[in-house]
Amino acid sequence: MLALSANGVLPKADYAIFADTGWEPRTVYQHLDRLEKEIAAPAGIPILRVSSGNIRRDALDPEHRFASMPLYILNQDGKQGMTRRQCTGEYKIKPIKRQVRELLGYPYPLRIPKDVFVEQWVGISTDEFHRAKDADVRYMHNRHPLIDMGWSRSDCIRYLTSIGLADTPKSSCLGCPFHGNAQWRRIRDTSPEEWQDVVAFDAAIRRGNARANAAGNKLLGQAFLHRSRMPLDQAPIDHVTAAEWAAHQEELSTAEAPVPDVEELEQDVEDGCSPWACRGEADAELTQGDFGLAS
Ligand code: SF4
Repeated sequence: MLALSANGVLPKADYAIFADTGWEPRTVYQHLDRLEKEIAAPAGIPILRVSSGNIRRDALDPEHRFASMPLYILNQDGKQGMTRRQCTGEYKIKPIKRQVRELLGYPYPLRIPKDVFVEQWVGISTDEFHRAKDADVRYMHNRHPLIDMGWSRSDCIRYLTSIGLADTPKSSCLGCPFHGNAQWRRIRDTSPEEWQDVVAFDAAIRRGNARANAAGNKLLGQAFLHRSRMPLDQAPIDHVTAAEWAAHQEELSTAEAPVPDVEELEQDVEDGCSPWACRGEADAELTQGDFGLAS
């Protein structure tokens, strides 16, 4: 959308906002720098980088309240669960709203008059139509220009390719538990340093986040980044067959676990992390208690 705006296909945006969780892949930060230099700055569109902190550091800091990531939990009785996802709200939506209030001239806690609002563009394409939602505050009116233009994900990729941006990387936290196996393999096979980083983080949160542990909370389960609920460096991130996956689930759990489509394991969790495109229903189904992992 930034390129479409800079190139005059869409009207000129006043600002572009990047909510930085502090733990994006290196390629994303490099790409953002490039977009800023080659596209945004020449068009006179400021990119505002906003942040609520560093999600990785916060999880491992006993002094810091941690907004939990959607971690995969294995309980002592073998049952499986997930921790509540609070990170999108804390690290993406909150700093964006703070910035928008400032742009409007009404920083929190000032009351924003009814007729004062921004038009906020959300880059959802036609194949993700169901994710297009209204904002939950009156001072933001969501628009979905890609849907208005009838553009699918392939149309976006074609356009990016035509302007020399075919290598646009996917933005998400390096260690996001929503990654599919393809994404985990990409990190392992192309960036050994970042792979070490996520493997170390996965091990560090096994018994919960640092603050929960420091507070002496009773730990009822183990947390994992990979949906197999195995340590990341041992998890089956290479292609697995449905039979292999089913056998693994049986070993792990006495509870009946559904066997997912193997291709599903390859892909990122559908409707993963995106501000303004919450996967509320899916969360509600999967969520269990926090097990001292989100205090
Ligand atoms: S990318 Fe994943 S870990 Fe990061 S904020 Fe979004 S859901 Fe949370």
